[in-house]
Amino acid sequence: MPAKELSPIEIYKLLPGTSCKECDEANCMAFAAKLVNREALLEECPPLLEPQYKQSYDQLWALLKPAVKAVEVGIGKHMVTLGGEYVLYRHEFTYFNEPAIAVDVSDEMTDEEFETRIHVLNDFAFDYIGMQLKLDMLSIRSSSGDPAKFADAVSKANDLTRKPLMLCSHDPKVLEKGLEVVADKRPLIYAATKDNWKDVAELALKYSCPVVASSPLDLDGLKSLALTLKAYGIDDIVLDPGTQSTQHMGSNLDTFTVLRLDAINEEEEGLGYPILGIPMMAWTVEEEDPVLNEWNEVVLAGTLITRFTDMLVIHGINGWAILPQVFLRSNLYTDPRKPVSVEAELVTIGEPDENSPVLLTTNFALTYYTVANDIENAKVDSYLLVVDSEGMSVESAVAGRKMTADTVAEAIKDSKVDEKVKHRNIIIPGRSARLSGEIQEASGWSVSVGPLDSSGIAKYVEEKWNPYPE
Ligand code: SF4
Repeated sequence: MPAKELSPIEIYKLLPGTSCKECDEANCMAFAAKLVNREALLEECPPLLEPQYKQSYDQLWALLKPAVKAVEVGIGKHMVTLGGEYVLYRHEFTYFNEPAIAVDVSDEMTDEEFETRIHVLNDFAFDYIGMQLKLDMLSIRSSSGDPAKFADAVSKANDLTRKPLMLCSHDPKVLEKGLEVVADKRPLIYAATKDNWKDVAELALKYSCPVVASSPLDLDGLKSLALTLKAYGIDDIVLDPGTQSTQHMGSNLDTFTVLRLDAINEEEEGLGYPILGIPMMAWTVEEEDPVLNEWNEVVLAGTLITRFTDMLVIHGINGWAILPQVFLRSNLYTDPRKPVSVEAELVTIGEPDENSPVLLTTNFALTYYTVANDIENAKVDSYLLVVDSEGMSVESAVAGRKMTADTVAEAIKDSKVDEKVKHRNIIIPGRSARLSGEIQEASGWSVSVGPLDSSGIAKYVEEKWNPYPE
């Protein structure tokens, strides 16, 4: 059942009902509301784990479990969770686990290429509205087919990165050599197929690893393979429905959409697992310039990210190619129920003194970071007062009365900015100009109306800032 259809009452009826507060909630109903929003786990109610509540626990789990199973790969702080999704479309509830992006290496690459790729995986980081965008996994291919060579590559990779690994070969003997090296790291095994599934399933059981079921361009075969693995005792499965190059984009869209649609809306057994997409298939097309392959890979990755893919394998490692993928991913996987916001506080930029400007903005993350970066880059020593607008941008906050003269006056007072500057003059964003008179009246501060866009702040301060207007 999709998460949106559950009510706290349905859940509450199955809880112990003692309101013992062991879950740190005031009562069972409050805990039920958290469960419905997926903000708490059943395990956080200790009485529910007692034998007499086993039936209730099982019923609750059946109601609350995600339509797409959550599969963990790797160990420790770099572990990634694939899947764990409840809804088809983000706006129906929220998505929970960003698709993991894995960088491809093979056991026939030169040492230099092999190491460069792993360094990009380890070191790529981009700060974006308070989030650090990163790459997540390493995919190691046995292109040689040689078990010893593959084991060497896995060993070398294991020395160079702590990120989770995917070990890739269709030959169980090759896979086992790699698994022996990283037996305790819970790598993802790629792949069980209709031809090798039994041997690969044995490896997955022996090493307690998740496994990819691969049946390219054959959804019925994929479903049958996943059900077979499940019946064999494998719980953690990832589905590879086959990714084609950008020349077959329509077919990719159809395949990935049907797969997730059937898993969530039809609750088809055997399809409720994370999906693997392989944008590096864009490199199988012969292009005059490899830049075109990398460009096509970005297009393919973007398409797959929007079409329910839970893990991607990429070959291109240029920053211009990685950035659009991690941006798109982070924007799609923010929680639509909660605006992306920052703390409302007084921020010091540079080394302001008692005559420095005091500027105002809202706590919508995108607004805040744009304004703060513009001020920092322009080297304007100042105080930036961030008002709690419930995560709304300036224009929306003013229109929706989330930023009013009273909330601004209160923020000025609470921030104690009057102890840091001698003047009483605040610059408000141009888009909140209509509040200027009211703010002046409510706060007792003079109000200067700044530019409409924060890129104009430096020029505005240079030409117009006067801490002591007449
Ligand atoms: S721990 Fe369980 S029984 Fe106790 S209040 Fe929380 S939900 Fe109710």
